[in-house]
Amino acid sequence: MQRLLLASTNRGKTNELAVQLDGLASVICLADLALVPTPPEETGLTFRDNALLKADYYHEATGMLTLADDSGLEVDALGGRPGVFSARYGGEGLADAERNLVLLAEMGNCAGQPRTARFVCCLALVGEVGPAPSVVPVRHTFEATCEGELALAPRGASGFGYDPIFIEPASGQTYGEISAEEKARLSHRGKAVRILKEFWQSSLSPLFPSGLIQIESA
Ligand code: IMP
Repeated sequence: MQRLLLASTNRGKTNELAVQLDGLASVICLADLALVPTPPEETGLTFRDNALLKADYYHEATGMLTLADDSGLEVDALGGRPGVFSARYGGEGLADAERNLVLLAEMGNCAGQPRTARFVCCLALVGEVGPAPSVVPVRHTFEATCEGELALAPRGASGFGYDPIFIEPASGQTYGEISAEEKARLSHRGKAVRILKEFWQSSLSPLFPSGLIQIESA
C-alpha cells in the first residue's frame, strides 16, 4: 500500500491538508510517528526551497513518501515581508494573535500605501511511488497564491495564523470569518492541493493497476 507522510508541525496547516486530501489519501501526521524527527532549520530563501528542504528531510528520516508545505504572507508595502519568515515574524515565542498585531502596527507606519498582500503556498512531494518492482522516484513542487488586503484590525476566529487580518476581496470578509470549505476553495493552499491532485491523478494513479492509492500523513 502506498503511504504518504504529511510532514508539518503546524496544526492549522495539517488540519486543512488532511481534509483537502481526503478521498485521494489516507493521511497520518508527524505526531502519529513512533519517533518524531527533530524539525529541520528552515534556511531556504524561497517557499520552494523550504518546502523541498522539509520534504527531503522527513523522507530521508522516515523512508516514507512525504508531503511538506511551506507557506506565508507577502505584504507589498513591506517589500514582501514577512514572506518565508511568516511563522517567526516579530519573534519566535509569539502567539498568532500577537504576531498579527505586530504586523498591523508595522502597517501603521505605511500610511497612504496600498494594503495589498498575498498568501503563498508551496507543497513538495518527495519519495518513491508504485508497487515493486516498478517504483518511480518523485520530487515535485506545487505552488499557488491568493491575493487580498490587510484588515485594519483582526476579525473572525476561524482558521489560523494571519487569517483574521487577511481580507478576501470579493466578499470583504477576512479568512477568519469564512468557513473552512470557502477557504479551501479560495486559498493558496486549496489551489496548490488541486494542482497536486491533478498531478497525482495523471502521473501517479496510472502506476497502480487497482486504482487505489493510500496516503498516510505523519
Ligand atoms: P511555515 O511554512 O511552517 O514556515 O509557516 C508558515 C506561516 O505562515 C504560518 O505559521 C502562518 O503564520 C502563515 N500562514 C501560512 N498559511 C497560512 C494560512 O492559510 N492562513 C494564515 N496564515 C498562514
